[in-house]
Amino acid sequence: MSAAEHLTTAGLGATHLPYGSYSTAAGVPKLGVRLGDHVLDAAALLRRAGAAPDDIAVTDTANLDALLARDRAAWDRVHAGLVHAVSDPAAAESIVAEAVPLTEVTLHLPFTVADYVDFYGNEFHASNVGRIFRPGQPPLTPNWKHLPIGYHGRAGTIVPSGTEVPRPRGLRPEPDDPPTFGSSRRLDIEAEVGFVLGSPAPQGQIPLTAAADHIFGLVLTNDWSARDIQAFEYVPLGPFLGKSFATSIATWVTPLACLDHARIAPPQRDTPLADYLDDSAAPPWAFDIVIEIVLNGEVVSRAPYGTTYWTAAQMLSHMTVNGATLRPGDFFASGTVSGPERGQRGCFLEITWGGAEPLTLADGTDITFLRDGDEVTLRGKASGPDGGLLALGECTGRVVSAR
Ligand code: MN
Repeated sequence: MSAAEHLTTAGLGATHLPYGSYSTAAGVPKLGVRLGDHVLDAAALLRRAGAAPDDIAVTDTANLDALLARDRAAWDRVHAGLVHAVSDPAAAESIVAEAVPLTEVTLHLPFTVADYVDFYGNEFHASNVGRIFRPGQPPLTPNWKHLPIGYHGRAGTIVPSGTEVPRPRGLRPEPDDPPTFGSSRRLDIEAEVGFVLGSPAPQGQIPLTAAADHIFGLVLTNDWSARDIQAFEYVPLGPFLGKSFATSIATWVTPLACLDHARIAPPQRDTPLADYLDDSAAPPWAFDIVIEIVLNGEVVSRAPYGTTYWTAAQMLSHMTVNGATLRPGDFFASGTVSGPERGQRGCFLEITWGGAEPLTLADGTDITFLRDGDEVTLRGKASGPDGGLLALGECTGRVVSAR
């Protein structure tokens, strides 16, 4: 039996091996891969697999930074080496003996976040928000079907899953009075898929066909949002303090190469696109991923990422079309993921229709926006090989009172 056969749990087997940065009580952070409920030292696995010294060197580090600075060929070679090691029956005994249970490690940010862009690429979400914020007007703004709308977020406040999120303070609109300063009364989540970028970047636009050379992997992302602060500040330059207090990401990065079985065509395009965004002849860049939103242990929504109109390849092409350069560790997120059904909405703004339709929880209480003490977990499942599912790393965070 191989190490994988010993340690695999549902969705976390030999071909997945998401990357994370972990430390044990005494040690410094190391790059590891997750197999079931255990962490394995990535560099140690590659040594067993007889990998090239360069490939071992870029994994014998604290996190993904050095590997992200390499290229797609190195990423695929390293992943294949790791898969080979955990699948080799001859190495099973020592790998299993060295595997560290997740309960014995601290998990850190898996990479150093360079720049962070958040998009707004899901038509169901954007339409719902339009109806809530701009009733009587067309739900989508005139630009929406022509380009993936985005804004620059705050890279320095991206935090790893498990980090507490203090309720932000700011200026809140009042119906008939000037705004008041205080703790947000409308604290929300946004269930999103985040994309981790790497490899030496060329100057200029990255074509749709080259997206896989730069998108290293995926993480579930919770773009915490203070709707009252956001509503007052966002005109005309967009989100700022209502978003920048915290963005949580999962501590495990699923390599892009694991998601081939989850690839699906994006929604039908109904508006002609500029050449750099026209994906009618490009490989499909939507993924069959469902994000469960779990509030204090109760599933309150199941958001289908595959319904998202703009793909990650289009987002990457768009954010570089003006000549903006990339750095390894750049990060962008899809925008809130919602589906057409009520039970598929990706934030409480939509789930409770701006607070007008409270959600009744299993214990009978009604909720609109988040309360101090509420814990939100995003769980993701993607289609995997042989009809199975990949379990994406969880993204969890608990709201604490304003500090
Ligand atoms: Mn967002």
